[in-house]
Amino acid sequence: MIKIFSDTKIVKLLELLNTSKYIAIVTHINPDGDAIGSVIGWSNFLRERGFRPVIIVPNHFPDFLKWINGTESIYVYFNQKDTCERLLRETDLLFCLDFNKLSRLEAMGEFIMTLDIKKVLIDHHIGVEEEDFTLTLSKTPMSSTCEIVYRIIWQITNKKRVSPRIAEALYVGIMTDTGAFTHSCSPELFRIVADLMECSIIREKIHSAVYNSFSVNRMRLMGYCITKMEVLPEYRTAYITLTKEELDQFEFEPGDTEGFVNIPLSIKGVVLSIFFTESKDGYIKLSLRSVGEFSVDSMARRHFNGGGHKNASGGKSFISLDETVAFFKSILPEYRELKNED
Ligand code: 5GP
Ligand code: MN
Repeated sequence: MIKIFSDTKIVKLLELLNTSKYIAIVTHINPDGDAIGSVIGWSNFLRERGFRPVIIVPNHFPDFLKWINGTESIYVYFNQKDTCERLLRETDLLFCLDFNKLSRLEAMGEFIMTLDIKKVLIDHHIGVEEEDFTLTLSKTPMSSTCEIVYRIIWQITNKKRVSPRIAEALYVGIMTDTGAFTHSCSPELFRIVADLMECSIIREKIHSAVYNSFSVNRMRLMGYCITKMEVLPEYRTAYITLTKEELDQFEFEPGDTEGFVNIPLSIKGVVLSIFFTESKDGYIKLSLRSVGEFSVDSMARRHFNGGGHKNASGGKSFISLDETVAFFKSILPEYRELKNED
């Protein structure tokens, strides 16, 4: 396997670890499979080396990730602000996993910015804000933060075997961030997955726990989204909108719309899919996905206060849902590469 980080960076990481007592691990708002998988995998690795890290996430994470061993001890800032702030104040070393800038943690990030603590970033998103961190271990071509965590563990231990707890958590993030191994899969990633499979994980159980655990409401919401999807064949684009009322109607729970943005990409010819949701926090949350060369990262960065990866990004809009959709339609002609030439 190729080393993705220099020995100097790994030595620096070990130095930071060996000079710290209180360690915390955080990840981005609306944690997904890679966020939760990577924090659990990294935390278990640190535990096995004698540390006692705490994990803090900004807000709720989906039920379909709660079976992962270790998630029961995760602190949620949104629910336990005072406890989380106390834990963060006590922290000497903070690991920041699966995001590229502290603003991705919203209110929790603002609090962290007031603290004078060392921060190590482990991530795979475009556009790292270097000044936010003491050390950055970031590689954008990697499938997932879980893949990076596995590679860091290997660089530290020189062993391909990890404990089943670590393997299971890392497998979840690799599986979810690659759309169940459909994109961002290098030959080396499959070798890593093969190694993880040899660490006593039960692949079928993991797959089923994540993908075959829909509530009836979630399944009906999916059908509703497909029915109301709008297709713009002239721009090879499809989009779906959901208002707060519609989310309430289906008794929305965190994670219920996870993956829905990918569905329109199954339509022949569609290369751009956008999912607009009215969030409780008063803004419009956008999920953007593309296939091929079209970069949703540039679109999200330029127009929607966001970013992420070339083919999967997120963003925010601070005007109404209708205005956001109208604005989105108004910018499409700028993207000549989307135009349907047939
Ligand atoms: P999702 O659409 O699943 O929420 O996010 C897709 C990707 O874009 C993820 O890798 C996520 O971390 C990133 N992302 C989501 N929302 C935002 C955002 O508001 N700002 C930035 N910079 N990245 C985002
Ligand atoms: Mn990720």
